[in-house]
Order: sequence, then C-alpha cells, then structure tokens
Amino acid sequence: MFFINTIHYQRIQVYNIINTLEKVNKMTFYIVGLTPHDQFEIQIIQKEIINALDNAVTNIKAGDHNCKKWFGDDSKLWINQLKRKLNRMVSIILIQPIEIHGPLLYQQNQQSNLYAQAVQPSDGWQDYTSPTGNRSPLENSLKQLYRINLHQEWHTMPLFSDVPNLDNKFLIIAHEVSHLLVSTEDICYGTAGCCALAILDSISAKSNADNWAYFIQYYIK
Ligand SMILES: [Zn+2]
Repeated sequence: MFFINTIHYQRIQVYNIINTLEKVNKMTFYIVGLTPHDQFEIQIIQKEIINALDNAVTNIKAGDHNCKKWFGDDSKLWINQLKRKLNRMVSIILIQPIEIHGPLLYQQNQQSNLYAQAVQPSDGWQDYTSPTGNRSPLENSLKQLYRINLHQEWHTMPLFSDVPNLDNKFLIIAHEVSHLLVSTEDICYGTAGCCALAILDSISAKSNADNWAYFIQYYIK
C-alpha cells in the first residue's frame, strides 16, 4: 500500500514538473488576434522585460542613482523591497500567461490610455508580488486572468527607443505590466513629470506606472 502511494505521489510530482516546464517554455505573453510580425515583436519584448528586471535585481544597491531618480528613494530598505518585487515579477511572467489582445477583437474605450490598456485582473487591482492572508504571491497570481489590450496607435510606435522620453512598445508593455502585477496608477506621464514626482512625493512615484516603466527601461542591455 505504501509502495503504491509512493508511486502515485511521484507521478503527481513528475506531472507537476512537466506541466511547469511546459509553461516556462511557452511564451507566457499569450497573443490573441495579432499578426506574425506583432507576435515576433511581443516575444522580443517579453524576453527583454525579463532580462531588464533580472538585470535590475543584479545591479541595484543602496545609494543607486536610478532608484533615486525614478522612485525618490535609494535606501537599503526600499532597495530590498524593490528587489523582492522585481524578482517576483519575473517569476509571475515566467509562469502565468499574460494575454495580449490585438485591436481588432474588442471595442476600444475612448477614455483609456492612447496605446494600450491593462484589464483589471480577476481579483482586482492589487500588488501580486506581495502575499495576501495565507496565500503566497504565486498562488495569488495563478488564479488571475492578466490581460493587456493594444490599441490601433500601438502600431505607430518604435519597438525600442534610445531617446528616454520617446514612447515605444517596450515602455508601453512595461507600463501595463506594472499596472497588472504591482497595482500601479496613472498619476503622471513622461520623464520630466515622473522625475519631478520622485523628488516631490516618493510614495506616489512608487505607485506610478510610468515611473516603473522608465526605471525598467534603464536596465535594457
Ligand atoms: Zn497606465
């Protein structure tokens, strides 16, 4: 009896590992209604976002000028919190699908951001890199439907930009991913406004989507 249970248990374990590996090997930016060219670009963006987040985790330390510039805080306490959040963002992006919908399949909300819009996850806007109650960040994230809608104007953007203030597809997806995973808001847009916000109000800068996007963009290699 013990023997059978052990085999059964091992089978479940192997099944879980294979299942996880399959998810990791797939593009977790799950693309709906986009052309092969768009899909190719989204795949590049997913890879670069993971690399940039990973690069940030490796390089930031207390006194970091980029953390000070975009979040108004370079203290050891914040750096440690930030590293934990960035690490968990990478884990969620590797495991959990984020649906990217092309502009043809839904009615564009005229009130929404010009290029793209994050759709509220199933359990609402919350910081999915933090545990809630007795559920871990991963358990929380696996229950969510994460979705980003791209608007027609998306196609007018360059993929990346060397000019920091110029909108580009990488920056837009990083902005929307911050809405989905760390529950950022839209307090202000653009580099000048975001730098000023970091100086004047660090707490708001830490919850503003564009501040996160510019911070992440800095770590593209
Ligand atoms: Zn936004």
